[in-house]
Amino acid sequence: MKSNTFDTIVVGAGMSGGWAAKEFSEQGFKTLLLERGPNVEHLKYYPTTNMQPWEFKHRRRLTSVF
Ligand SMILES: Cc1cc2nc3c(=O)[nH]c(=O)nc-3n(C[C@H](O)[C@H](O)[C@H](O)COP(=O)(O)OP(=O)(O)OC[C@H]3O[C@@H](n4cnc5c(N)ncnc54)[C@H](O)[C@@H]3O)c2cc1C
Repeated sequence: MKSNTFDTIVVGAGMSGGWAAKEFSEQGFKTLLLERGPNVEHLKYYPTTNMQPWEFKHRRRLTSVF
């Protein structure tokens, strides 16, 4: 039980959550960062970086409402 106890839990490892988790852990807080998406490795996983606008599957389509 003790190993599953955290001072801070951050949901989402985007720009905001990633930075918040970094700051919390550097301040000494035991921090859990949860991310629902795939692991994004710097310089290895940017699948759309070199794509041209016309290569995007849903280009010019409206966002779907579920
Ligand atoms: C097409 C596009 C191009 C952009 N280009 C630029 C640019 O060139 N330069 C720039 O500075 N900014 C750019 N931005 C803006 C930038 O991407 C956003 O401002 C920034 O990513 C916002 O960060 P965030 O952490 O708030 O959200 P996000 O980056 O969206 O992070 C949220 C994270 O939370 C995760 N998440 C959501 N729900 C859950 C859940 N229930 N459980 C676990 N994890 C969850 C998501 O998977 C995601 O990783 C662009 C945005 C878009 C859409």
